[in-house]
Amino acid sequence: MRIAVISDIHANWPALEAVLADLRAVDDLVCLGDVVGYGGEPVRCLDYVRDRRWLTLLGNHDLACADRDVLEWFNEDAATAIRWTVEQIGEERVEWLSARPPADKRDGALLVHASPRSPVFEYVMDAESAAANLSELAGGLCFHGHSHLPGVFRLDGGRVRHDYHVGTVELHGPVLVNPGSVGQPRDRDPDSSYGVWDTDAGTFEFRRVEYDRLAAQKAILEAGLPARFAHRLEFGY
Ligand code: ZN
Repeated sequence: MRIAVISDIHANWPALEAVLADLRAVDDLVCLGDVVGYGGEPVRCLDYVRDRRWLTLLGNHDLACADRDVLEWFNEDAATAIRWTVEQIGEERVEWLSARPPADKRDGALLVHASPRSPVFEYVMDAESAAANLSELAGGLCFHGHSHLPGVFRLDGGRVRHDYHVGTVELHGPVLVNPGSVGQPRDRDPDSSYGVWDTDAGTFEFRRVEYDRLAAQKAILEAGLPARFAHRLEFGY
């Protein structure tokens, strides 16, 4: 089975559209959360994802739409975007978003937004957090997002190794796989990032897709959201 793994759409419709157009012969798709936040088209992105009935996990931005305590941890600009998002999407969509599961499984692999030990909040960006989370996997496989950095954490002779998006990788557990972000890439490559997991071959193919950044930037600026959210799309940081 070929499963597209996408994450961190962040209300960037042109990016989501481009990724969907790039999909070839996939049997399923899973979304690792953060459908909203930062971007200017939350209704369009949320309705599309919901209508397709893909497995969609709970991200911290999704949860912040419904939970004031979570929102308090956001920086001012990100919180501004969440408050605007809540106004746009309305109560019923907020309810749907905040009812997404924080974790699930597919074909034996764990799926979370952030990390195995803290499914909604922890950033896995260094060897220490990666080692702690790899040890939770019992030799298995985990897909996660949140950091917006595509890549793979694994153990090599007892030491943590981090490989960035490198075409197609073979998956030998324990391994943490991050497909990167559809709507707000942060690895200095502005193209959308996602990947395809081939469960039979035991491989993951990282893919990058150009999208209409101008349209996404325009939506952010026209919504009156902080201009830096538009600016960063230009450079992918
Ligand atoms: Zn995110």
